[in-house]
Amino acid sequence: MSELPKTRHSAASFHGGIYLPPRKGKVLRHRIMPQPLPPSLTIPLQQGQGTPPTVVVEVGTRVLKYQLLAQATEENSVCAHAPTSGVVAAIGDCPVAEHGHPPRPCIQLRVDHQDEALELTANSDYLNLDDHEMRRLIESAGICGMGGAGFPSAQKLKAGLAQGVSLLIINAAECDPYICADEALLREHAREVVQGAEILRRASRATDCVIAIEKNKSAALQPLCEALSSSDIELALLEPRYPSGGERQLIQALNGRELARGSYPHDQGVLVFNVATAHASYKAVALGIPCVSRVCTLTGAPLITPKNFDVLIGTPVSFLLNLCGLEPLPTQEFIVGGAMMGRLLSDTSVALDKTSNCLIATSDEEFALPDSELPCIRCGRCAEVCPAKLQPQQLYGAVRAERMDLTSEFGLDACIECGACAYVCPSSIPLVQYFRAGKSASRSWQRQRNSAQRWQVRFTSHRRRLQLQRRARAANKAAKQRVDSAPPFSRAQAREEIAAAVARVKARREQLGVSTDDDAEERS
Ligand code: SF4
Ligand code: SF4
Repeated sequence: MSELPKTRHSAASFHGGIYLPPRKGKVLRHRIMPQPLPPSLTIPLQQGQGTPPTVVVEVGTRVLKYQLLAQATEENSVCAHAPTSGVVAAIGDCPVAEHGHPPRPCIQLRVDHQDEALELTANSDYLNLDDHEMRRLIESAGICGMGGAGFPSAQKLKAGLAQGVSLLIINAAECDPYICADEALLREHAREVVQGAEILRRASRATDCVIAIEKNKSAALQPLCEALSSSDIELALLEPRYPSGGERQLIQALNGRELARGSYPHDQGVLVFNVATAHASYKAVALGIPCVSRVCTLTGAPLITPKNFDVLIGTPVSFLLNLCGLEPLPTQEFIVGGAMMGRLLSDTSVALDKTSNCLIATSDEEFALPDSELPCIRCGRCAEVCPAKLQPQQLYGAVRAERMDLTSEFGLDACIECGACAYVCPSSIPLVQYFRAGKSASRSWQRQRNSAQRWQVRFTSHRRRLQLQRRARAANKAAKQRVDSAPPFSRAQAREEIAAAVARVKARREQLGVSTDDDAEERS
């Protein structure tokens, strides 16, 4: 029996949260499956809210597996690589997985089924690389936050480094009831994840590192404990309470301090990376493999064999659904990103990206149509479960009334869209949808307000300028009038005025007893 890892206990519990029955067992029966090559891949270039990288290939170019397709040129962009060999068929905007989002830049690759790869350079002594080189390898491998945010990992490491990192958290708390990609990854690749955590610790120069996982992740715990037994990385066991995997909730649980609204984890000396990001970092730094695939859970009752797949970035959803055997239903919908925080898919021809950790085919039994929305009865249950300590019923009222000034006052920005409030609402109010719409309206209201404020400043300065010009014109006019109305110059009158002034001065001096040169001359 291997030695047990050092264990860190929760320093504080986060507010609210809910207990959700897990629905992962059927998927976890299978090992992570490699996927066969699809006829084509549509590789999304933009990750999360970032800037698309600069494309370095042309239509018609034959590329090899792992070849660079697009180079990150901005701080918030991520490199893209070819997941297999093929010919670049098109470069342009394509529909994305999220329903209602505008198309985003993508590279379409016609797969040649040769899977011919570039030669990779492994680093056998990777733990002795300096931290700068580790960050460079992570950046050039195109690694971003694979838990959903898609933020470039190298930039996150740099931000942490600038502030000093006391605690690095590897987030294995997969609290959504359907997603089990991280649990499967840990079950099968725990050693690589621990090595990835070590790389991220060195790349961020963090003092401590902890892998946080919920107590009920039985498939992953044994291999993880074994992998940690020869490492000084700690293990933290969390209550399986949704959303324990939320970044802020995790920091509060392990660091004991609540992250202030509007501040970032690195402001508190903490960095959080997902388990999949740690695994991808290991592959990049130790093996020289760029990020071209990720583990994704395909689940839902209409799938005959739901599984975790090692999905090539850019694989169309329809291709993966066929691999699992989809039983079509009349009211079929697909959710990308989990049951609680996921979003409805626009259509199944879209491709998965580096942040896609789960795809759910819905059925009426599991995802019954919600009851019709009823008025809020002010029961307060939503506020009890809100992990961000918000008053969702107040926010809901403000969003409905389109009072964007109030939504920001009530903290809409702090809403992590976890859906816990909507889950417990007895009036079946789709609160998260309201909050997403509210955030979007609030952004546009803020833009308009900023623009109005800019115009107000310009208008005020313009008015002030006009006022000063008017005053200057009036002063000039008055001076001119004074000159015009003055009597004509008279030499005699001037002499009289000068003589009177001299007499006045003389009288004054005599009064003060001051003698002048003229007086002295007169006396002599
Ligand atoms: S749970 Fe629903 S009904 Fe109760 S206060 Fe919140 S929004 Fe209103
Ligand atoms: S969705 Fe937002 S308001 Fe609702 S519980 Fe989660 S954080 Fe709170």
